[in-house]
Amino acid sequence: MPDENFYLDNDDIRFNLTHMVDLESIAELKEDVGSPDCAYESADEVVETYLDLLEDPIGVLAAQRIAPRAADVDKEGCHYDNGTVTLPEPARLNVQDLAEADLMGMTLPTRYGGLNFPATLYTAATEMISRGDASLMNLFGLQGIAETINLFASDELKDKYLPGFCTGEHSGAMVLTEPDAGSDLTAVQTRAAYEEDHDHFHLTGTKRFITNGCGEVLLVLARSEDPEKYGGGRGLSLFLVEKDETVTVRRIEEKLGIHGSPTCEIYFNNSEGYLIGQRGRGLTRYVNWLMNAARLGVAAQAVGISEAAFAEARAYAQQREQFGQPLDRFPAVQEMLVRMRIDIEASRALMYATAETVDMEMLLSEKLERLDRKDPRYADLRARRDRFAKAAEVLTPLAKYYTSEKSISVTTDAVQVHGGNGYMKEYAVERLYRDARITSIYEGTSQIQIDRAIPRVMAGAFEALLDEYADRDYGTVALNGLREALAEARRSLQAAVAYVNDQKLADDQRDTDYRNLTARMVCDMALDTYLSYVFLEQARHSERKAAVAAKFIQDMAPRVEMNRQYVMSGDRSVLQQFDLLTGAQS
Ligand SMILES: Cc1cc2nc3c(=O)[nH]c(=O)nc-3n(C[C@H](O)[C@H](O)[C@H](O)COP(=O)(O)OP(=O)(O)OC[C@H]3O[C@@H](n4cnc5c(N)ncnc54)[C@H](O)[C@@H]3O)c2cc1C
Repeated sequence: MPDENFYLDNDDIRFNLTHMVDLESIAELKEDVGSPDCAYESADEVVETYLDLLEDPIGVLAAQRIAPRAADVDKEGCHYDNGTVTLPEPARLNVQDLAEADLMGMTLPTRYGGLNFPATLYTAATEMISRGDASLMNLFGLQGIAETINLFASDELKDKYLPGFCTGEHSGAMVLTEPDAGSDLTAVQTRAAYEEDHDHFHLTGTKRFITNGCGEVLLVLARSEDPEKYGGGRGLSLFLVEKDETVTVRRIEEKLGIHGSPTCEIYFNNSEGYLIGQRGRGLTRYVNWLMNAARLGVAAQAVGISEAAFAEARAYAQQREQFGQPLDRFPAVQEMLVRMRIDIEASRALMYATAETVDMEMLLSEKLERLDRKDPRYADLRARRDRFAKAAEVLTPLAKYYTSEKSISVTTDAVQVHGGNGYMKEYAVERLYRDARITSIYEGTSQIQIDRAIPRVMAGAFEALLDEYADRDYGTVALNGLREALAEARRSLQAAVAYVNDQKLADDQRDTDYRNLTARMVCDMALDTYLSYVFLEQARHSERKAAVAAKFIQDMAPRVEMNRQYVMSGDRSVLQQFDLLTGAQS
């Protein structure tokens, strides 16, 4: 459709960016507005530039070029021939369009040819592009690799590689996973031997499931330290390897979805690698940073897929008739559509709140670096930065978890709304359903996201977040009434957290098995409570959002109560009778 625009047709993205995220503060810090080097007059001008770009070219390209090619990308898939990988032709055109619009270096500094955009805006771009074609996110979304180089590599490496990322000449890959090291990256075996004469390393080993492993610039996690002295994660470093004849793509995977994204097995045969940052900090610092950025990217991919699936289901339910009336007149179908829509808005709210905390933590850290420690503003800014850092730490894994699980349920319902047609390749929901499935697996599975978040939830990370909302005046009797209902949910969360923290083993150590068993339910309670407050805040801005908040809170209350009862039941049968319950022991 010639006039379609995935920014202009999406009120909720615009709502989040204009009412919920403090884009002015982000813009001011990002461009250092007021400093002699700043090219802008004001933060408002920066924000206007950001939003203009989302509208055109991003909203236009996503709707008018990328989305119409998605079915062909999926059908053609990637090609492999004797070590060479080729993208499907329509995917190649997509990358070309993005590069020509100068969008391949969105977050990189302007001195390398980038746009210097914050994570929040990159997230919005990723959401729209993924709505057009989820698999394209895996090429567009690889900008975190260039950003890692920008943050942690030497100036020499930055100057050599970053301009190529911005023009689209280079693409990258995040090369971590091995056959025996998936969720547990501390088990990585690829070796990096130090060559003293040349002051660099040579890498040998096999990596698998590597998105765009055929790219030119590979960031590889490898074991550089003596395992006797530095075992596990402490022995791992991050290296930049430029693709050459020592790097072989052995095969690409045949996959359920995201067919436009090549997933490669790579063999490194004594390949030259340049150290990024410090030895031994590859996993704990640089990969951790890279994966957090990628998690936000996957959240945006998940929300984009959900949005596309909802649009298909909504239109289909309006037009298809059974029993003499459109499908969307049946209460059971209405219930599905309303739940899908609210789940998407909850996902989006969580994702942009997370992106904002990530940006603010990063930008305040940069500002602190520029500031003299004796400056009277220093202590306040540092306290603010620390608050954002704490929030980002717990929200990032949970945003990835929540948005991906919701994307799977939204696309499942979208297929259901289509009935038999939803199972057929002629209908987009069939592809969207397959594409959504990966989002809860890569960049750390849902279980791993929960595992990352739960210690922070148990330590009360949500208390600080909820405090911000709990005493606000929401402006109307109805909204303030909902706030009271939320106080009850918050008490349930506190009770569940206290209960799990109190579970002790015979030797008085904490019962971490019970904590891990109930971790998902506790995280769900925390998310339900937090998102209810966020919706309440949204409700101040429009009647429709007030209705959405009321519905979310209405549904949230019994969910939280159910989870509270489960968590506080003390039921350990899964742990104690695992073999019996799974049928291994009769
Ligand atoms: C299409 C695709 C693209 C990918 N792209 C990349 C890439 O670009 N770069 C890269 O390095 N990797 C990539 N991966 C790898 C991906 O990140 C891993 O597949 C993922 O982290 C899970 O690891 P695994 O497959 O080894 O599963 P496993 O680690 O074997 O996990 C299997 C199951 O056990 C659960 N589990 C494991 N440990 C725990 C635990 N401690 N607590 C609770 N449950 C646990 C998991 O949640 C999962 O349900 C990609 C994978 C796919 C499928």
